Amino acid sequence: MVNDEIAHIFNSIADILELKNDNQFRIRAYRKAALVMNDLADDADKLLETGKLSNIPGIGKDLSAKIEEYVRTGKVSTFEELKKEFRPGLLDILSIPGVGPKTSLLLYDSYGIDSIEKLETYANTGRLKGIKGIKDKTIANILKGIALRRSIQGRFPLGTALPVGEAIMGELRGNRGTGSIELAGSIRRRRETVGDIDILVTADDPGPLMDRFVQLKEIERVLSRGPTRSSAILKNTHMQVDVRVVEKDSFGAALAYFTGSKAHNIKLRELAIRKGYKLNEYGVFDTRNDKRIAGATEQDVYDVLGLQWVPPEIREDQGEIELAIEHRLPELIADGDILGDVHMHTVYSDGDSTIGQMARHAGSLGYRYIAITDHSQSLGIARGLDPGRLRSQMEEIDAFNETSMGIRVLKGMEVDILSDGRLDMDAGLLDKLDIVIGSIHMGFKQPREQMTGRMVNAMKTGLVDLIGHPSGRIIGERDAYEVDWDTLFDAAKKYRVAMEINSFPLRLDLTDVMIKKARSKGLKFMTTTDSHDPKQMRYMGYGVSAARRGWLGKHDVVNTKDHKDFVRWLKGDR
Ligand SMILES: [Zn+2]
Ligand SMILES: [Zn+2]
Repeated sequence: MVNDEIAHIFNSIADILELKNDNQFRIRAYRKAALVMNDLADDADKLLETGKLSNIPGIGKDLSAKIEEYVRTGKVSTFEELKKEFRPGLLDILSIPGVGPKTSLLLYDSYGIDSIEKLETYANTGRLKGIKGIKDKTIANILKGIALRRSIQGRFPLGTALPVGEAIMGELRGNRGTGSIELAGSIRRRRETVGDIDILVTADDPGPLMDRFVQLKEIERVLSRGPTRSSAILKNTHMQVDVRVVEKDSFGAALAYFTGSKAHNIKLRELAIRKGYKLNEYGVFDTRNDKRIAGATEQDVYDVLGLQWVPPEIREDQGEIELAIEHRLPELIADGDILGDVHMHTVYSDGDSTIGQMARHAGSLGYRYIAITDHSQSLGIARGLDPGRLRSQMEEIDAFNETSMGIRVLKGMEVDILSDGRLDMDAGLLDKLDIVIGSIHMGFKQPREQMTGRMVNAMKTGLVDLIGHPSGRIIGERDAYEVDWDTLFDAAKKYRVAMEINSFPLRLDLTDVMIKKARSKGLKFMTTTDSHDPKQMRYMGYGVSAARRGWLGKHDVVNTKDHKDFVRWLKGDR
């Protein structure tokens, strides 16, 4: 928690320094430190307590002093000083995807544009036209960036909300007298963005629990503090958290009620009425005598309605209730089913750890195998591999496998699909690899037909096993590229290419909706993390959640196979 706050401050400092045209090394040091903080396993306050704060790899003396300052005072004075130089409007404008520091400064200084609303008005009324350095394309990008920002406004990526929710739950669990506690709402359904955090809890004595909640250090402002319900706004993200204390006998009913979705719950209530019951957040009641007949657990609630318990991820009224009546719900994939993480980067390209470090960490997570899939050469900014360096990497992997016990390392590459569908590496070399991921990293703006043809051409080569982050979207930053999904999926079926479920929290690509569509065409999937350092391997759960929301079972996802069968699949037994 405190780490996220520090990361946010470091990033903001970097933004401001960028506006000031400050030293590039300094800016990069802040950005890098922000990344490090985000991935740190231990909270900064704990590190300070145990004297380990000054030894965080990748964070120098100067920045670790700032972390200490924040832990002790809740502020970083450098940041406070820098903020004074700029009205916040400038930072708002800079926060729009596609608007860089130069443009922001120009608009702010020369035209007095100091809010997103003002910028939008200027763009829409043609008043940005003719400003030096602003092309028509820039204006279109600005409007698109504003729309994107708005599309998730008030909602937060699951990757932001879930860890915060779990951290707060952890703190409340530590309170004496706390009984059952669960996250409800869309966070429990693992939607890719969530509006707020709902926590349900039972407690012998709600008073102390609420006291503890409103005093948590994560909280910026308390909106209300009642005997059974309190709400607060969190620091930095300004996300709202609601904590409700419910009675033990109602916990399951309340959990179902607050988990939703609305459409799912409406159907449940109709079912209850048909049976002569009344269903609400307090329980299931017999309408003849108003006696509660279920409510303590969700299982009880679904049982008395004659239903199989429905996993939260698929409570969207998309056929799950009908199947639950017949007790025929599919068994969904679970976290533990994934036996190998097969998309990750190392120091060979833009990752920051070695093959051995990645493999050992994966081993400690219980994986049986991983695949190293660094970028290919056309991705210059990521230091993509040319044939020579790919060959050395292959040798290093062979050597690793010879000496290491346990985890197996597969040879792979995330090869760029060039603008015409050719692959950015010699076919002969790709053929020697265990796994080839074909991805698009450039030329996102191709028209639909061209993009579709490009991806189909790549699959036709027979060299690609998996399409990486198939839609290219980044939540809140970049829309998916235009592609004809039916044609793409049909081709993937024909050429037996799997679709990636990229678990990186801002990617989650394919989306749940597209997963379901691809599944209906009989496609196979791989759930991967696209890790650029070992800590990012913890993201796998987000991909598994997306897979569950897409109704996938274990057999739909290829990297649930053990090493031998996975390799056999890659070799063509699909
Ligand atoms: Zn990629
Ligand atoms: Zn990648």
